[in-house]
Amino acid sequence: MTTDYLLEVRDLKKHFSSGGKLINRTAPSVKAVDGVSFSISSGETLGLVGESGCGKSTTGRMLMRLINPTAGSIHFQGKELASLSLNDMRLMRKDIQMIFQDPYASLNPRQRVGRIIEEPMIVHGMGDKSYRKKRVQELLEVVGLNSYHAKRYPHQFSGGQRQRIGIARALAVEPKLIIADEPVSALDVSIQSQVLNLLEDLQSEFDLTFLFIAHDLSVVRHISDRVGVMYLGRIVEMADRDALYEEPLHPYTQALLSSVPVPDPEYQQEQIELSGDVPNPADPPSGCPFHTRCPHVMDVCRSVVPEYKEEKAGHNVACHLYDDKHMAM
Ligand code: SF4
Repeated sequence: MTTDYLLEVRDLKKHFSSGGKLINRTAPSVKAVDGVSFSISSGETLGLVGESGCGKSTTGRMLMRLINPTAGSIHFQGKELASLSLNDMRLMRKDIQMIFQDPYASLNPRQRVGRIIEEPMIVHGMGDKSYRKKRVQELLEVVGLNSYHAKRYPHQFSGGQRQRIGIARALAVEPKLIIADEPVSALDVSIQSQVLNLLEDLQSEFDLTFLFIAHDLSVVRHISDRVGVMYLGRIVEMADRDALYEEPLHPYTQALLSSVPVPDPEYQQEQIELSGDVPNPADPPSGCPFHTRCPHVMDVCRSVVPEYKEEKAGHNVACHLYDDKHMAM
């Protein structure tokens, strides 16, 4: 393992039995995540994007060990998280925090906001009561709320304000890595950019590293340094943000991007229609998992899984279009 990365994930898998519980010998398995690898450097934001059910949220939850991986490695700050005991993992959660999609469901409605933000500090034994009270007040102001909001309950806030409370709670224990799972998708568009700008400001102020999970490519573009695209439990393309958005290589990424509105009325964008629905992950297609919907499908795609490899510097893709023997075809 290299030591340059804050987080290095290798061949991470989560297979469920199609009955919904843990894998067993009789039921076919659903490969929710099927061999995902990526790294994140300190201070970087990696966006993970894909349609609902592609495995991006399951990946984020495995990093926190809210779901245990079936296989693979999660290397964080010199420790292997995949094999940590649950007790040791609880301690590690001081350094890895999560921001959830639904800011209302993730806040205890019976607790005052001050207590909600204080709780992670209590769990991790940080400071005495007066230190924690002062820190709660500071954190509320850091996320654009007021210190007197500590006495209120979550239902007294708007969706955007509740997400700010969730962010304050995540920051309370001074984490290094924040996993943000669809953190703005439940918010009005006008509020989304405020919360995204807040996350960017906090990143530079507190030297945070983000894994930013979302289905909305515009949102991911706004905040990410690099972007990975997931399809049926695998990363099919990953590159620096500008390379991915300006020169997407994978036909799935090209189709996703063709449906993102461009804010230029003069620009005529050709929309790529994908045929069919996302296949059942309990019965994925053979070969390339995207072959049933791909406008460029070739014979080889139906039987051979494309290798995920670097096609250009820092730009990885899993597609037979970039195999040497098919380049000339
Ligand atoms: Fe399409 Fe084949 Fe590439 Fe899969 S491997 S994305 S089916 S061209």
